[in-house]
This record gives sequence, C-alpha cells and structure tokens, in this order.
Amino acid sequence: MQSKDFERLGFNTLVTHVAKKVDRARDIVSSAPPIYQSSVFVVDSLEDLGRTEAEGPSYIYSRHLNPNHTLLEEAVAAMENGEGAVTFSSGMGAIAAAILTVCRAGDTVVASRDIYGGTYSLLMNRLSRVGIKTELVSTHDVDHVRALLEKGATVLYLETLTNPLLKVTDIEGLSRLAHEYEAVVIVDNTFATPYLVNPLALGADVVIHSATKYLSGHSQATGGVVVGRREFIEALRPVAIDLGASLSPFDAWLILLGSRTLGLRVERQSQNAMALARFLDAHPKVLKVNYPGLESHPDHRLASSFLAKGFGGMVSFEVEGELEGAAKVIDSLKLVKLVPSLAGVSTTVSHPAMTSHKALPREERIKAGIGDGLIRVSCGIEDFEDIRADFEQALASL
Ligand SMILES: *Cc1c(COP(=O)(O)O)cnc(C)c1O
Repeated sequence: MQSKDFERLGFNTLVTHVAKKVDRARDIVSSAPPIYQSSVFVVDSLEDLGRTEAEGPSYIYSRHLNPNHTLLEEAVAAMENGEGAVTFSSGMGAIAAAILTVCRAGDTVVASRDIYGGTYSLLMNRLSRVGIKTELVSTHDVDHVRALLEKGATVLYLETLTNPLLKVTDIEGLSRLAHEYEAVVIVDNTFATPYLVNPLALGADVVIHSATKYLSGHSQATGGVVVGRREFIEALRPVAIDLGASLSPFDAWLILLGSRTLGLRVERQSQNAMALARFLDAHPKVLKVNYPGLESHPDHRLASSFLAKGFGGMVSFEVEGELEGAAKVIDSLKLVKLVPSLAGVSTTVSHPAMTSHKALPREERIKAGIGDGLIRVSCGIEDFEDIRADFEQALASL
C-alpha cells in the first residue's frame, strides 16, 4: 500500500495496516515486522554504493538509516498526515535536530513559556551558547508573540497541551500569525498524540513526538520522531545523521508495535481522565483541577474546537496542605504508582514541583501555577472504578 491509499481510512485502521513492507526488493510483507538488529549492511557493488549515497540515505549504516526506522517513520508520518518523518533515540534528540535544521547562530526561537523542562534547558543552556537565542512567551498573549515575530524570529515553538497545567495552544491561529512573518512553526504534540490532533492540518510546519510516551505507550522504549513536509525532512536527515541520536532497531520495533494500539489506548485514557477530573473536581479536599475537558478549564472552548475525540490522558490537581498534602496523597495511593514519566497503560502520578519544575525558583513556579500541592496524573487504561477508589482512599488521608 502507498501512503496515499491510507488517506480515507479511519485512524485505527490506518495504524494497524501502515508500514508492513520491509523488504521492497523481494516484496516481502510480514504481518509483524522483523528486527533488523544490524549496525551495518552489505552493499552489492562499489557502483551501488556510489549510487545509493547520491540518492540520499539508504540501508548502509544504521546511524544513517535502518529498515526499522523506515517502518516507524512511515507509520508516524501517516498518523500525522505528514509527507515524511525521521526517528531519533529520544524526544530530546528529535527536538535538537529539528531546531538545528532551521536555526543558525544569530537566529531567535520564540517558545512557549510552558514548554517541557528538557526543551527549556536545551534552548536556554545549550543553544544559547552557540548563538541561538530564545524568547519565552505566554502563547495566550498574541500581541507579545506578534511583537517578537515582527523582530524576525526564525521559529515559533509550541506544545499542543502543556505540562503540567494542560493549557491548550491555538495552533491554527498562531501558525497563521507566524507565517505572516515567515517563521517556521514547530509543535511538540507528545501530550495530545496524533490520534487526537494533527498539528500539520492546523497549519504547523513540523511536528515532534517523544515516542517514549504515548506512541510507544508501554513504558519500554525511548525514542523521538519529527514529522514534516518532504523538503524539511530532506534537510533534517543529514542533521540527524551528524548529531547521531539514532534510534536502536529494537526500540524502533517496540515503538511501532506500541503505536498499533495508540487510538484504543488514548480513547480509553481520555475517558478515564475525564471521569477522574470530574471526580476530583467534586472532591472537598481538592482545591483545583486542570483538565481541558472540564467546562471550568480556561481553554475548554479552544480545546473543544479541535480535540473532537477526547481531551487526552493527562490531568493535574492541587490538594490541600501544600507539599505535605501532596506527599500524603501520593504515599497513600496503592494501585497508582509514583513514576516521573507518563503515557503508560497503568495510571501513574508525579509531582511537578519536585521533578519537571524543580529547577524553577519557588516563587516563579508558584506564579506559573505550579504549587507545592500540585499532583500530575497520567491516566492508564484500567477499569475506572479501581482508579477512582484508589484516589478516594488516598484523599481520605488528608
Ligand atoms: C518527555 C518529553 C520530551 C522529551 O522526550 P524524551 O524521549 O524524554 O527525550 C519532550 N517533550 C515532551 C512534551 C515530553 O513529555
């Protein structure tokens, strides 16, 4: 099947059928792909070596390209409605390569103030030292975004749903604005997943995933993917090869396997998250719940405009008693474990103030809405009643 054959298929049909042909020369289509656990490949002749190198990356050396990369790249490109994709050994590898494809010394990135901590560190601690400057904005302050774009920013860097407050980004409006100033719009779609939204369809130029999270979905692989238009992917590939953050064949295989059930998982995780958000919202010991599916969330209308299939599996909430209160609840949970990541099939919690936002000065962190009592939940696919009962007994410890 060519990728255009997939255009009219539903999401779950597409993800379970895309990327199966592994050996084009012999036309082998395996029902489950093999693992090409090889760092290097045999080339037929010197002439062939010359030709394939001129035609772009082929299966010669696995840092450049491996058949398991291709399978995952085809799958994620199809899910995101992109023309191509490049895989990486982590989400951070993907983000670094995407930015370095577009930016050079002297350029400016305008980034959401709420971006992932690793991305913040890459921009502020690493890229700043090689002359790539970053300006942080609230993406809800359109005038400020415009003013910075007017000054000639190269990239507008966004996240569809932010961590841990689940703010929603107006990708469509901001992409239109950025394109008035010829900035490239890069969207980290890790939290929302391609099942819920395709940022490219909303006008973004490049989409990034930490495949470690929902694409893989079972907390067993680390990886990243960048999706975009053909020209961008062609420019990105050599940057990826030079950076060397290449995905292992086994992890590529695991992520492809996990991605087959992305739709089913995220559908269930979104249902559980919605139900948990409602339960927490009505609980007397809970001060505040952040979930874009709740009518009380400040971005609920915007979220409803493009998240038709659900609002995602992430919820955060603030309990009474600051740090002590949060610790009591987290320590009292039995089924739900403290795990400083997200997107697995089992429900987990983390504490942003002590993990992802530890580097932020306390006052700044609290001003940003991330208090000591804030708990982040990554909803799994369990039977909701068991999750509710666990949170109910844990909150009773307060
Ligand atoms: C985890 C995460 C990343 C980084 O991905 P790694 O696979 O850990 O390198 C980037 N963005 C978001 C939104 C994430 O949650």
